[in-house]
Amino acid sequence: MNEATALKRFERYLKQRDLRVTSQRRDILSLAWSTHEHFSAEELYAWAKERDASTSRATVYRTLALLVEGGFLSPLDSGRGQLLYEHILGHHHHDHMICLQCGKILEFRCEAIEQLQLEEAKRRRFHLVNHSLTLEGYCGSCLKENPNLAVDPAEAEVEF
Ligand SMILES: [Zn+2]
Ligand SMILES: [Zn+2]
Ligand SMILES: [Zn+2]
Repeated sequence: MNEATALKRFERYLKQRDLRVTSQRRDILSLAWSTHEHFSAEELYAWAKERDASTSRATVYRTLALLVEGGFLSPLDSGRGQLLYEHILGHHHHDHMICLQCGKILEFRCEAIEQLQLEEAKRRRFHLVNHSLTLEGYCGSCLKENPNLAVDPAEAEVEF
């Protein structure tokens, strides 16, 4: 979904909720749309301020919450006590692996895992609408630099 379509949807969403369509809210959506990276609320706030210096942190956080509620953005736990966001509307579903050392995020999609989740939900008569899956660990380049990362005692019994 391109930015113009996403903007139209967002405007409709705001109107449905009796919220005003302001240029700051529009800016925040288009900023969130123009990056394909995973970003934090503070990063988005910094970008929004560059566009319009009068944008307040409160406006960014409130708009971010609306974008999540409306299904435009999805939050993702970075594994370091910080939430990250990415736009999902009109994008193919994917899951994440997060490196706890350098913060790198790998996106993946595994059909077998997707299927297992569906089956598990069905078995529990649970109607699955959405899911997010984040695997935490250490990426290849961090392991190369520091092989000791892999010998976490908690993981010692796991065989790869
Ligand atoms: Zn998935
Ligand atoms: Zn790493
Ligand atoms: Zn992602």
